[in-house]
Amino acid sequence: MADAPLFERIALIGVGLIGSSLARVIRRDGLAGHLVGCARSEATRKAVMALGIADSVTDDPAIAAADADLVVICTPIGAYGAVMEAIAPVLKPGCIVSDVGSVKRVVIDTLAPHLPEGVHLVPGHPVAGTENSGPEAGFDTLFEGRWTILTPPPGTDEAAIEKVARLWRHAGSQIDRMDAAHHDQVLAITSHVPHMIAYTIVGTATDLEDRLKSEVIKFAASGFRDFTRIAASDPVMWRDIFLSNRDAVLEMMGRLTEDLARLQRAIRDGDGDALEALFRRTREIRRGVVEAGQHIPPKPPGDTAGDDDG
Ligand code: NAP
Repeated sequence: MADAPLFERIALIGVGLIGSSLARVIRRDGLAGHLVGCARSEATRKAVMALGIADSVTDDPAIAAADADLVVICTPIGAYGAVMEAIAPVLKPGCIVSDVGSVKRVVIDTLAPHLPEGVHLVPGHPVAGTENSGPEAGFDTLFEGRWTILTPPPGTDEAAIEKVARLWRHAGSQIDRMDAAHHDQVLAITSHVPHMIAYTIVGTATDLEDRLKSEVIKFAASGFRDFTRIAASDPVMWRDIFLSNRDAVLEMMGRLTEDLARLQRAIRDGDGDALEALFRRTREIRRGVVEAGQHIPPKPPGDTAGDDDG
């Protein structure tokens, strides 16, 4: 007899890059008796059915979440409040509510007050992604070799946490557990501020006069290219990330500004030793990233574009 699926019914609220990648893993490994995808646009719902990555689709989060054992919210964070208000009345006791949002403190603050008695909250963040959006952009190996960080509030049922961890292990992720506020600080410097820098530098280039601008594009391979890839990330998602992780991002940007001023001074003073010392230190960090196997950006199988990255 085949093993019972990990969950009887899984509802994915939002089936874009992350939701559809998770859907592909769930389908591939038979982790749900029934997988329902919820998306607001008809185009997304049609694509999900055409791709065969869910058993059914709906535009109503409450219909998706009714009778679900696991609900994973995979929308931009700004939509969480409305989603939770819609699903809270139908969540059954024992159900686990999880998510994939890139910021965690605000997720707990938004979801926890609406949580019915007997429903478990296990927020999660797969630290994996690409600059593309929508159900077609997903692939089942997106999370392989990456970390998924779980940030359950203190006192959360351990069995519920372990079930969510098992789901992400199926996706090929390693699991880490963190306090939500600590997660937000770590991700502010490793992900959010780097995106802010990319948005800024590409924005600055856009403001240059026409002749310079065309040369920026022509010679993009000299370093600018990698910033343009990051700066092509979804505008709504990143708007929500910066607004949701305001304090940690502002704190890290403050530190960055101070360090930038020190670098400016070193260049002005011709202090080559200071520059070289910094660049030697940062080269060591890169070695650590390579040794940890985190240096190659995730790509759909068969996609060789940008293989020289990293
Ligand atoms: P995406 O490809 O743009 O997909 C977003 C999904 O959410 C779509 O199905 C969309 O439905 C739905 N949605 C958007 N706004 C909504 C609203 N106001 N109400 C209800 N549904 C809405 O986004 P994604 O890249 O998968 O990101 C989803 C979440 O994953 C975000 O919270 C993000 O922080 C997190 N995350 C992203 C990455 C990354 O690199 N992309 C990595 C880790 C975590 P329609 O298609 O019908 O509009």
